[in-house]
Amino acid sequence: DDTSAAPRRVLLKLSGETFGGGAVGLAVDVIRRIAEEIAVAVRAGVQVAIVVGGGNFFRGAELAQNGMDRARADYMGMLGTVMNCLALQDLLEQAGVSTRVQTAITMGQVAEPYIPLRAIRHLEKGRVVIFGAGAGMPYFSTDTVCVQRALETHCQEVLMGKNGVDAVYTADPRKDPDARRLEHLSYTDAIVGDLGVMDQTALSMARDNDMQMQVFGLEGAGNVTRVLRGEKIGTTVTV
Ligand code: UDP
Repeated sequence: DDTSAAPRRVLLKLSGETFGGGAVGLAVDVIRRIAEEIAVAVRAGVQVAIVVGGGNFFRGAELAQNGMDRARADYMGMLGTVMNCLALQDLLEQAGVSTRVQTAITMGQVAEPYIPLRAIRHLEKGRVVIFGAGAGMPYFSTDTVCVQRALETHCQEVLMGKNGVDAVYTADPRKDPDARRLEHLSYTDAIVGDLGVMDQTALSMARDNDMQMQVFGLEGAGNVTRVLRGEKIGTTVTV
């Protein structure tokens, strides 16, 4: 065993659905619970970066379906993620954790710009870094941003928190009684099987750069702390 290993540094994805508790707006009690679980892991020495989604406010693709210009709608989606970042920042600070928000669209009064080396420095100092505004580019998803930010800030693993499911299944377990829970999955199988774990861009970027991932359920009490500390509770996805 490598006892001189670098400290554990991980990237956690929290979807907009989580922040909204399934509705539009913010479910502060849910965010507080997750923030408190993150705080436990941070106090145990885990370095935590977070990418926040924005589906509880706007999804560009949905607005485009209703006739809006896709790129402009995507920018609205990205701005929505920043509101979630600020909510999470507030509740993490209340839980005693030092935080920084960095956004891919500059908004100096509200957050730092995304500066990878500075993000790494924050992580080394035990601050949680919350990445907002996605990639700053339309037609991308926050899932893809997770893989990119994890690679650039040298995270060892991406932890994809999900609502309503606790792992990847061969089919939707809420609809198909024959759905099988997968302990492990390869990126290629996820891409070819189109399992709906996340978008294909994210999967292929993770595969091409050998980034490990775990897909897990956010709902069980303590789950967030457990995955952050390195326990396997969901589906591991690897090359
Ligand atoms: N978005 C984007 N580029 C990015 C990340 C996000 O255009 O790099 C937009 C896109 O419109 C997306 C919305 O922001 O629908 C919210 O992000 P996402 O749907 O990934 O959030 P989640 O589903 O995780 O809540």
